[in-house]
Amino acid sequence: MDQDTEERFSFQHARTRMVEDQIRRRGVTDSAVLDAFLRIPRHCFVSEQYQPEAYQDHPLPIGYGQTISQPYIVALMTEQVNLQSSDHVLEIGTGSGYQAAILSCLCERVDTIERVTPLANQAERIFKELKITNVHVHVGDGTLGYPPAAPYDAILVTAGAPQVPLPLKEQLKNKGRLILPVGDRWTQVLQIWVREKGDFINESIIPVVFVPLLGKCGWEEKPQ
Ligand code: SAM
Repeated sequence: MDQDTEERFSFQHARTRMVEDQIRRRGVTDSAVLDAFLRIPRHCFVSEQYQPEAYQDHPLPIGYGQTISQPYIVALMTEQVNLQSSDHVLEIGTGSGYQAAILSCLCERVDTIERVTPLANQAERIFKELKITNVHVHVGDGTLGYPPAAPYDAILVTAGAPQVPLPLKEQLKNKGRLILPVGDRWTQVLQIWVREKGDFINESIIPVVFVPLLGKCGWEEKPQ
């Protein structure tokens, strides 16, 4: 076996273990979601330095003070929004692009918005390399949603918000699902909001730790 093939097999093995030990064992059982985690090569979304850790049970740095989230949290958020293959999804906080790549396996179209331009550009390059064609990357303040492509069947926010940004609720379709961490800058609770015509039903899921959601309807950016 040459070195490339050996590496591919060892990443594949690590990915299968990740799905079994970290995701399925903790209660995420939707087979379409699990298949997406088996298909998407997580090591392609981190720098070479972190590739040996790509399938471990924790977040990893992606530069600019940001992180790729723990695999289980990505899986939990994905399962909770209960996607249909015809759904149109908005993700706030593209980061490495990994969560958007997972979503791309489960729905028709993903729009994802990132405030850090080099991260958005890097994610776009990875989607191209992996031939993922239904993810559309935008640069901007995701606390305002992304009005040109609204409304959405589901919105996932992958950074911690001080409260639910109103524009995101407004950009949900009827029966649409919004999942986001809400709390202070250091710890949050993962919440899901479901639109029922003019009303919303919400539920808290588990405590989580995310980097802050910065922007007009999020946290104020601290001067450096
Ligand atoms: N979903 C990402 C992934 O799969 O790698 C992880 C995202 S990381 C935990 C949070 C991301 O949210 C960071 O890249 C950060 O720059 C971004 N972010 C924070 N505030 C934002 C905002 N107002 N609009 C868009 N992106 C934002």
